[in-house]
Amino acid sequence: MSKILTIGEILVEIVATNRGNGFREAVPLIGPFPSGAPAIFIDQVGKLGQECAIVSRVGDDDFGWVNINRLTEDGVDVSGIEVVPQGTTGSAFVRYREDGSRAFVFNIRHSACGTIELSEKTLAMIDGCTHMHVMGTALYAPSVVQSILTAVERIKAAGGTVSFDPNLRPEILDSPGMREALQTVLAKTDLFMPSGEELFLFAEAKTEDAAVAELLGRGIRAIVVKRGDKGASYFDKDTRLDLEGFKVEEVDPTGAGDCFGATFVTFWLQGASPAEALLYANASGACAVTRAGPMEGASTRAELDTLIKTQGRA
Ligand code: ATP
Ligand code: MG
Repeated sequence: MSKILTIGEILVEIVATNRGNGFREAVPLIGPFPSGAPAIFIDQVGKLGQECAIVSRVGDDDFGWVNINRLTEDGVDVSGIEVVPQGTTGSAFVRYREDGSRAFVFNIRHSACGTIELSEKTLAMIDGCTHMHVMGTALYAPSVVQSILTAVERIKAAGGTVSFDPNLRPEILDSPGMREALQTVLAKTDLFMPSGEELFLFAEAKTEDAAVAELLGRGIRAIVVKRGDKGASYFDKDTRLDLEGFKVEEVDPTGAGDCFGATFVTFWLQGASPAEALLYANASGACAVTRAGPMEGASTRAELDTLIKTQGRA
């Protein structure tokens, strides 16, 4: 049986309920919602009934327990989440601007998950995992990068696989060591899942087809490109598949890419065809945007089947 691991930030998200530019005045807020890209990813994996685990740190506070309780409920092994007695759980305040872009205030680097180190017990748990998913957002601090690279090495050495979603936000691109870490991870990646322009971050080629060919030529086995409401595409050396998006009402786009990736990886590891994995991943991303709150949009297999059926996409 496969077991999927991820390592990285756990936070709560607190969202302004009205639109506007940032937080320099008092605004109405709703939250805390469990969040953090790796946490959303692994929650969606757990909801599909796939064995999985996350390594992270939270403070011994309500923001930490909101996350631990949700992940536990949804079937994630949380034994690798360290509760730091004097720590504070990470947070992100988010406000949508009129144009749909987002203004953030992050507390990650100085929160409990600002450092992540691997204990003997955590290493033993990691050795029970067969697949590692790396989120680019998680490469925010040297100790976290080190923990991720250690897990990648161990899982690959034992014959496991690695997926990688660069998930890059300009706020974090210039973290110390981040660019080098991205290259190191890419060199070990079996399944690469960029969204849109992220495909070109690691390729010299200037067109999509050429960039895909270049990356596959470097040893990546498969590439999935996410295209928001336009759907997604799958590429390997023999196949190209394009799937249009499901028609849904977008309430909150945060977390779509994480749920999409989680569902694709789960189906891929369970031996589904690329076409089936892409269909379910597309459904998962679409379901995610219909619910407010980053992790609230994670779906069960039955919910995905319902969407696929109602839109005649089976
Ligand atoms: P994130 O903000 O979570 O990082 P992302 O940029 O990684 O998102 P997107 O391309 O926005 O990823 O979304 C991932 C997938 O979710 C898409 O490929 C698509 O399948 C689905 N999706 C996203 N938005 C919509 C939408 N409005 N309608 C239908 N499907 C959507
Ligand atoms: Mg993303």
